[in-house]
Amino acid sequence: MSVADNLRQVLADLPQGVRLVAVSKFHPEEAILEAYGAGQRIFGESKVQEMSRKNEALPKDIQWHFIGHLQTNKVKYIAPYVALIHGIDSFRLLAEVEKQGAKVGRTIDVLLQIHIAREETKFGFSPDECRQMLAGGQWRSMAHVRLCGLMGMASNTDDMEQVRDEFARLADLFKEVKGEWFADAPWFKELSMGMSHDYPEAVRAGSTLVRVGSKIFGERDYAQNK
Ligand SMILES: *Cc1c(COP(=O)(O)O)cnc(C)c1O
Repeated sequence: MSVADNLRQVLADLPQGVRLVAVSKFHPEEAILEAYGAGQRIFGESKVQEMSRKNEALPKDIQWHFIGHLQTNKVKYIAPYVALIHGIDSFRLLAEVEKQGAKVGRTIDVLLQIHIAREETKFGFSPDECRQMLAGGQWRSMAHVRLCGLMGMASNTDDMEQVRDEFARLADLFKEVKGEWFADAPWFKELSMGMSHDYPEAVRAGSTLVRVGSKIFGERDYAQNK
């Protein structure tokens, strides 16, 4: 099956209102262009250099979503063009996006990453850290970042019961946070969860943005790229 066929198959599964982030990390520009030719406009990348190189080379109406762990010292490279940063995992990073957004005269859309998996290695706020950060209120004075929702990754497991439980907890937190701090903010509406192996579960739990890579582009060759 071609990239375009895979893409169509994933899209056919998605209910209206759920958007697809085609995760193109480690895949060449030709593969992105194939998906682009089939109508896809949102692409997800997890390395700053790689995303910036592709942004330079590829059509300007592509919306680049940064989905990886973002180091504060690299925000400046993507601030001029990034469409959405999924992985804000500290107040410090949020403050840096504000600073760089101000420098380039943009308001940058971001999601707060919440740690929902059992694995220790995943980045993100715990639900309580997220509540504390929001209760602190400093984010309210930031004019160059716009909090648009939450993002999370379920445990990497075949135990779909556990995965569903983790997605449900994130969806609950989203509702709570929306009600508590963003009831009057229509842009706070995104729940980014679900990857190739678990996006159907994520969609059932209320995801609005699924991040699907290998199911569209095939396996990644980590040796080939930096
Ligand atoms: C790589 C990546 C994905 C896509 O993973 P697949 O299993 O290839 O669909 C989704 N989200 C994040 C945060 C990723 O780093």
